[in-house]
Amino acid sequence: MAEYYMQYHNASKLKHYPDDAFNIKTEVETINFDTTPTYKKWVYASKKKNILEAKGNLCFLIVGKKVNAQTKFYLWSLFRIEDFHEKNETHNDIFGIGCNFQKPILLNNSEHFKKFQSDCANFVGFKNITRLAFTQKLISYSSQIPIPETYSPNPSFSLEERSLITQKNEIERKLVQIELLLRNDRQIVNFLKETANYKCQFPNCTAEILMGDGSKYIEVAHINAVKDGGKSVHGNLLVLCPNHHKEFDYGNLKINTHTSSKLSGQLNGKNFEIELIMHHM
Ligand SMILES: [Zn+2]
Repeated sequence: MAEYYMQYHNASKLKHYPDDAFNIKTEVETINFDTTPTYKKWVYASKKKNILEAKGNLCFLIVGKKVNAQTKFYLWSLFRIEDFHEKNETHNDIFGIGCNFQKPILLNNSEHFKKFQSDCANFVGFKNITRLAFTQKLISYSSQIPIPETYSPNPSFSLEERSLITQKNEIERKLVQIELLLRNDRQIVNFLKETANYKCQFPNCTAEILMGDGSKYIEVAHINAVKDGGKSVHGNLLVLCPNHHKEFDYGNLKINTHTSSKLSGQLNGKNFEIELIMHHM
């Protein structure tokens, strides 16, 4: 039988969630993870002795975030502690297969949580929690996700190979996010194109591409790029012709003002001021 461990991630102190895609400003309630198990770096731990003891066992990752004066604790992920890379004396990156819960689960009001908190001495990491009453509660939550059972990459992979696998997983995760975003933004994209009358919003642009069926071709660009966490929402989207779109993405862009209704700055030395299209309900 596997033993259970707990590791704590203080998001308020570290200023990010365990998943780097989310900065601390992200509302936890809006987080929606893919629960496919992946092999990656999950946490770091300081004491090698504790890591060796925990190796091969399961670990619950709990995230704390201060909201007003209260710290809210969330059950974030479950992974198997499989390997570690020593960065320095007090920093070891912990690798293994596991997955995030689809949504972080708020623990503060769960039965036995207060006792658990004091037993874990306010969460000083990598603690064996197998025999604590609250762990049964954590285990019951874990029925929602696939239990990480096996080594994903061949254990004989070199450190470099493992790091490449980790990077690949990271890229794949970003691609999934981008695809989800693209699938979900059709409605707003079409609304913007129609409202702009299929004309480029860049000042004085007259570009027009007529398609074979008589309709017009136009593109919609993200002001804050998708890869940087930009969302397909009003205030972050511009209707642009393909040339201006590419110039916007690859040119020398300086933004002076960006509000929900206005964007101004310089693009390759040209001043621009654009009224952003608002969504009137
Ligand atoms: Zn244009």
